Amino acid sequence: MNNNKYKEAQVLSERTLAFIENHELTPSPVNYSVIFLYASNHTELKLTIEKQLSSKGQIDDTFIEAMYNEYLSETSNIENIILSPLESTLNKTLNKIDTQVVNEKEITLNLEKVDSALNKLSHNKPLKALISFIKNLMNTSQGQRKTLTDELTQTYAEVKLLRSQLNESKEQAALDALTGLLNRRGWQSKLQDFDLDQVHSTIAIDIDHFKRINDGFGHAVGDKVIQLIANVIKKSITTNDIAARIGGEEFVIVVKNKSTTFAESIAEKIRTSVEKLRLVQKHNNTSLPPISVSLGVAELSERETWDSLFERADKAMYQAKQQGRNRCIISPDYCLA
Ligand code: GH3
Ligand code: MG
Ligand code: MG
Repeated sequence: MNNNKYKEAQVLSERTLAFIENHELTPSPVNYSVIFLYASNHTELKLTIEKQLSSKGQIDDTFIEAMYNEYLSETSNIENIILSPLESTLNKTLNKIDTQVVNEKEITLNLEKVDSALNKLSHNKPLKALISFIKNLMNTSQGQRKTLTDELTQTYAEVKLLRSQLNESKEQAALDALTGLLNRRGWQSKLQDFDLDQVHSTIAIDIDHFKRINDGFGHAVGDKVIQLIANVIKKSITTNDIAARIGGEEFVIVVKNKSTTFAESIAEKIRTSVEKLRLVQKHNNTSLPPISVSLGVAELSERETWDSLFERADKAMYQAKQQGRNRCIISPDYCLA
C-alpha cells in the first residue's frame, strides 16, 4: 500500500473508531467493517444508516449485522474494502509503536546512567528530582503503549482469523458440494493459473445412460454413482491437474503440461476403472447394471482459447456417444478458422 493510501486508510480508521465510540457500539470486526465502509462514503449504505439515525435516533449491533449481510456478504468486498487496508494500517501502526517503545527504552537506559553518575556527586538534588520525574513519565508512557500494543495485536489476530475464514469460504464456494471436485466457477478461476505457453490437454466426461439409473433406482442412487465416478477421477489425476463437475453428470479435467497421448492414457484409465465398478444396493442386495462413461480428449493449440478447447473435447465426447459409448475419442488438431 502506498503512503497516500495508508494515510487514507488511517483517516478512515480513526473516523470509524470515533463513530463506534460516539454511538456506543461494540468494537467488533463486523461493526468495524460496516462503519469503515460507511466512513468511506459508500452511497447506499450512507443513506440507509442516516435514514435509520434520523428516524430512530440510533443504530445498534442488530441493525449493523443486517447491513453487513446486505453490503458486505460479497467476499471480494470484504477483502478489498476492509481487510486489506485494515491489515496494512494495523501492521504499520504496530511497527511504529514498536520503534517508539525501543526508542523510549534506550532513553530510559541513558537516564539511568545519568542518574547513577549523579548519585556519585553530592550537590545534585534538583537535577536528580528532574531525572526521576522524567523516568517515571517514560515508564507510564511505556505502560500505556504496551496496553495499546496488546489491544492492537489482539485486533490484528481477529483480522487474521477473519481473513482465514474468508479464504476458507472462498475455497468452499469453488467446490461442488456433492463430489468435492471443483464446480464451474472454481474451474474457470483455476484456469487462470495455467501458463498458456505450455501444452495442456483436456478430457470431457459424461456418464452413459445416466437417466436409466435415476429412473430405475432413484435420484439418491444416481447421486451416489456421481460421487463414485468423481472418486475414480480424483484417483486418476495428479495434484497439478484440475477436475470439475460442470453439469449434472458431466465432468472436465485439465491435464497440466501434457499432450493428448498422456491425457488419453488418463482417460482410458478412468474409462476402464468405471467399467469395472460393480455396484450393489445394500438394503435389498440389488445389483446396478454396469456403468460406463464416454470421453473426449483435446490438446490446447497455440493461439487457441480455453472455450474452443473445451468445445473440441465435448465434440469428441459426443462422437464417442454416437459410436456406441464407453469409449474415448481424441479430437483432431485445432485449425484456425
Ligand atoms: P447419454 O449416454 O446420452 O449421456 O444418456 P444420459 O441418460 O446420461 O443423458 P442425459 O445427459 O440427457 O441425462 C442426464 C440426466 O442426469 C438427466 C438428469 O435428470 C440427471 N441429473 C442431472 N443432474 C443430476 C444430479 O445432480 N443428480 C442425479 N441423480 N441426477 C442428475
Ligand atoms: Mg449429460
Ligand atoms: Mg449422460
